[in-house]
Amino acid sequence: MSIVDRIKREEGKIGIISHFDPDGDAIGSVLGMYNFLKKYKPNVEAVLKDDIPYLFQFLPGVEEIKKTPSNYYDLLLLLDVSDITRTGFDNLNFGTLARIDHHKTGTNYGDFDYINETAPSTTALIVDILKEYDEEGITKEVAEPLYAGLLTDTGGFKYGRDFKKSFETALYLSGKGIDCQEIAQKIFLRKRLEVFKLLSLALNTLTVVEDKIAYIVLRKEFFEMTGTDSQDAQSFVTYPLSVDDVAVGIKFTEADDNFWKVSLRGKNRVDLAAIAEEFGGGGHINAAGLRMKGDEETVINTVVSRILKEFE
Ligand code: AMP
Ligand code: MN
Ligand code: MN
Repeated sequence: MSIVDRIKREEGKIGIISHFDPDGDAIGSVLGMYNFLKKYKPNVEAVLKDDIPYLFQFLPGVEEIKKTPSNYYDLLLLLDVSDITRTGFDNLNFGTLARIDHHKTGTNYGDFDYINETAPSTTALIVDILKEYDEEGITKEVAEPLYAGLLTDTGGFKYGRDFKKSFETALYLSGKGIDCQEIAQKIFLRKRLEVFKLLSLALNTLTVVEDKIAYIVLRKEFFEMTGTDSQDAQSFVTYPLSVDDVAVGIKFTEADDNFWKVSLRGKNRVDLAAIAEEFGGGGHINAAGLRMKGDEETVINTVVSRILKEFE
């Protein structure tokens, strides 16, 4: 049975959940699926562990996203989540679990999983699923978050392995009454001034290693000094990646004392998902992440020296 038939058949409670620290694709996937399914299913809910970043709060239905899951779901849809632990919830109970995702790494949960690692975003996969379910249901409120997910995961159509799919999906969604210019403007051209102060501190740390790797460091005190948080820095990894000749850009974010979130971005030279996986993380070839304990110097040295090995 296909994932579409499985969802259609479900008469009980359906949960739609994505990863903690949600990005545009996580939020877009959850809202696209939720705004669609609520017209067909009386008992569906969307849940995300963390707050919705300011930039995505304009998306329709965002105020209906819950912060704590129900005790039980007959069908639980994991969207843009490579592993259930990345939902941030450790008490999820369900009858059937299905993962709809485009991460290269992760766990397979069963017959209904719908995973394609070449897809530009999870929202692109959801477009295919909803088209098969009922194209009539893809209204503006459904298309807008799905487009937002595609736009952000491709970095405004700069990244991807299947550009044909990106453009076909964008073309399809653009015919559903959405304003592509307005969505792009709201997501990319609406930064608070504090975010630029944070960026300025971050850029002061920019370091280039052997013309191959560049990184920035976001220390906890930077967020305190500027009144920002790590969500405001979600896109900053683009700066080290943008340095000419550099093949890998890295962002080290101090999440807690001696605890770092590491974001890796590449230009098709190194399989970053594989490297992230070695450290317990995961992701895609050109966009991956991991978490690491240790002091700043040790964490930077560990990650940088591991990636440098790829160039030997
Ligand atoms: P980020 O650098 O946090 O934007 O993440 C880049 C990509 O890697 C995203 O697709 C994430 O889902 C994935 N990723 C980040 N951190 C982890 C992790 N600790 N474990 C598995 N996947 C991760
Ligand atoms: Mn994501
Ligand atoms: Mn994604």
